[in-house]
Amino acid sequence: MFWTGGKTIYNKDELTTMVHNTIEYYEEDNKRIGEINKKLKEDAEGVVRAEYEQRIARLEEKLRLSYGEFATQKEKDAYDDFEQRHMHERATMKAQGGKCPYLIPTGTGIGTNLKVVCPICGESEDITDLEAW
Ligand SMILES: [Zn+2]
Repeated sequence: MFWTGGKTIYNKDELTTMVHNTIEYYEEDNKRIGEINKKLKEDAEGVVRAEYEQRIARLEEKLRLSYGEFATQKEKDAYDDFEQRHMHERATMKAQGGKCPYLIPTGTGIGTNLKVVCPICGESEDITDLEAW
């Protein structure tokens, strides 16, 4: 390398080295950008996963609430079964003035005891799913 009137002149070897350095620089840069992209992608996946987990938790809560007083599907099934057995010529159908069997939940400290009562014949049944306690 030498100077000619303020202009730098490079010889072939110097130019080759410069080109190689430039290539190396861009390869390093490319690698660095690739790692950043990978990290961003992982972070984004984490965010998306967290969002879905929240959404699932909300749906589970909604589903639990849609059971009403029921703590588990087993209790809901027991209720449906009781309702089926106490149709009384279909007079207990929900469509007929809401005369469906009603529930009496009783808090016991360790869980909620659930009793279902038929409004027509007065028969009652404990449908508590103790496995949920
Ligand atoms: Zn009944």
